[in-house]
Amino acid sequence: MIATLQTEAATHTRAVAIGKGIAIGGDAVVLMVGPCAVEDEAQLRAIAEAMVAHGLRVMRGGAFKPRTSPYAFQGLGLEGLKLLRRIADEYDLLVVTEALGVEHVPLVAEYADVIQIGSRNMQHFPLLWAVGELDKPVLLKRGFMSTVREWLLAAEHIRSRGNERIILCERGIRTFETATRNTLDTNAIALVKATTSFPVIGDPSHATGRADLVIPAARAALAAGADGLLVEVHPHPLQALSDGEQALPLEQLPQLVEAARRIAAALGRTVQ
Ligand code: PEP
Ligand code: MN
Repeated sequence: MIATLQTEAATHTRAVAIGKGIAIGGDAVVLMVGPCAVEDEAQLRAIAEAMVAHGLRVMRGGAFKPRTSPYAFQGLGLEGLKLLRRIADEYDLLVVTEALGVEHVPLVAEYADVIQIGSRNMQHFPLLWAVGELDKPVLLKRGFMSTVREWLLAAEHIRSRGNERIILCERGIRTFETATRNTLDTNAIALVKATTSFPVIGDPSHATGRADLVIPAARAALAAGADGLLVEVHPHPLQALSDGEQALPLEQLPQLVEAARRIAAALGRTVQ
């Protein structure tokens, strides 16, 4: 049991290595892009090719999806994990994917380089303990109705089991505002950077819920100090099986990368 809160041990960011020479929280801001849900090989291949063309190395994609409706597409499950891993290996990419329940942790750990804990699961303590036992980086999304303190304490639940490779992800919170899906809490990004040693990334996709706001919100997250971005992209957003409204069309990936490069450069950072 680690008794010291990271919040009390405020220091500079401690980078988390995720593989292939890539670390979150170092000089480079890391763009993690991919579909909301893994759908098929053609979708992943199109995204992987665009990623390689822009020097991006980390692919996201859900195989087990936490959908609000039980009647919505729930993800391809194991088949999705296998597909993600196969395409990522072919293009020399790293994989970020979600573990939805404790029972999925060993399986997801086998296929993923970074295990994502979703917003709805931020306080699913047995799940936090399970990933806390692993020797694998964990991307901990902020609960959309959780305070920063609750988020950091959730990270402590992981850390208390021995796994210190934690990357926080601000993905927007529910506020009185309904014009956007959520509200990107850039304060939280700045606060976490100022008071903890956890790296933090921003998710402009779930924060806004609108493809046309993804790039501006991505810029805001980076300007606030985010160490990276998690962005949903799709080759055919209108046909996406989940979160199509917020999927950045693949042809806009160059604009995202360029926007990130400009903000990063202003902060003395690079983009990976
Ligand atoms: C996702 O990243 O696809 C996702 C389900 O995100 P969140 O848990 O933030 O809603
Ligand atoms: Mn999504």
